[in-house]
Amino acid sequence: VYEYSVVVLGAGGVGKSALVVRYAQGQFLSDYNPTIEEQYRCDVQLEGKNCVLDIMDTAGAEQFTALNEVYIKRARGFVLVFSLTQENTLQDIDNIRQQIQMIKGQEANIPIVVVGTKMDLAREREVTRDTIKELASKWGLPFYETSAKNNWHVTDVFHDLLDQMRRR
Ligand code: GDP
Ligand code: MG
Repeated sequence: VYEYSVVVLGAGGVGKSALVVRYAQGQFLSDYNPTIEEQYRCDVQLEGKNCVLDIMDTAGAEQFTALNEVYIKRARGFVLVFSLTQENTLQDIDNIRQQIQMIKGQEANIPIVVVGTKMDLAREREVTRDTIKELASKWGLPFYETSAKNNWHVTDVFHDLLDQMRRR
């Protein structure tokens, strides 16, 4: 069976685990356990073929750590997660994005999607649509606004990433 391994990176508390659990298990994770690092295996169909999407949910990746480097080297695709309710978590994504480019070096078209979470918390929102549009064009990456709680656009994220990996 063909396997696609992806890693989910971003600051602590932004909603990485909730996003992955919503996609892989179809439920909302309301508890916050910052230390959880877990791998999820999902069966997916790509062009009629059975494939496995192997998703690594990491615990906090703000800093440049040796562990990040291991994750990045191993993965073929990347889900970079920030919270729409915390503008400063975009900075973490920018750092991670640069780490990926450094580590993957000359490789072109590295499959990456950027995910803003907690879209349902509209009154707490700090990151505007304009900011997202600007960064999407500056970084040349697709952005998704999601809610793991309400199951908004969660599958779109993983479908886009699978599509990018398939095309390489
Ligand atoms: P992680 O550290 O990035 O894995 O963050 P978690 O996935 O554990 O989420 C941190 C907290 O935010 C938890 O209490 C989640 O229930 C909450 N959370 C995550 N995603 C959403 C969302 O889409 N909407 C709302 N309202 N809360 C969320
Ligand atoms: Mg987590």
